[in-house]
Amino acid sequence: MSQLPGVTQSPKHARRRENGLRPCCCVCGRPLTAPESIERGMGDSCAEKVQEAGHKRQQMDPEADVFLPIPFGKGIVLKREGQWIIKTNVPHLVVHHSPTGFEFGYAGSGPSDLALNIVEAMLNRFGYHGDRTSCFEGSCFSLAYRLHQPFKVAFIASAPREGSVIAYPVVEAWMLQRMPE
Ligand SMILES: [Zn+2]
Repeated sequence: MSQLPGVTQSPKHARRRENGLRPCCCVCGRPLTAPESIERGMGDSCAEKVQEAGHKRQQMDPEADVFLPIPFGKGIVLKREGQWIIKTNVPHLVVHHSPTGFEFGYAGSGPSDLALNIVEAMLNRFGYHGDRTSCFEGSCFSLAYRLHQPFKVAFIASAPREGSVIAYPVVEAWMLQRMPE
């Protein structure tokens, strides 16, 4: 997980790294200006949308994954309540492998969807623009689709079942290495 061979330092990557300090909205990719939005990593309306979508998921399925409003900058937070309830700070933007929600600690479909949503949110955070691919529910960047299985293997399948926090700089470096110039 800690292997970071030759992290690229091109001007574009340096700029993206700088943007990491002033991230774009991890939901819609728009630049953030208000200090509280920058702190949160999301604009006001997107934060509301994510909360609302979370409530809806809870109403439909009391064991659905729960969104924790903790900025990515503090790490990717993976928590488990009881056996099945997964709590993360990852906005659930797209459903592809797992209509029943996120999971971690093994290499199944719940972990695939968690990985896909992390990679998608990170690309938004970097203000990435690129082709999109249709998913089971919604869509994602084609690049997110290409990266989500390797990301799952590197970070999600191996995460401790009881939960953990994945250090943000490690995720950022992993993403930057795999993004086009
Ligand atoms: Zn937004």
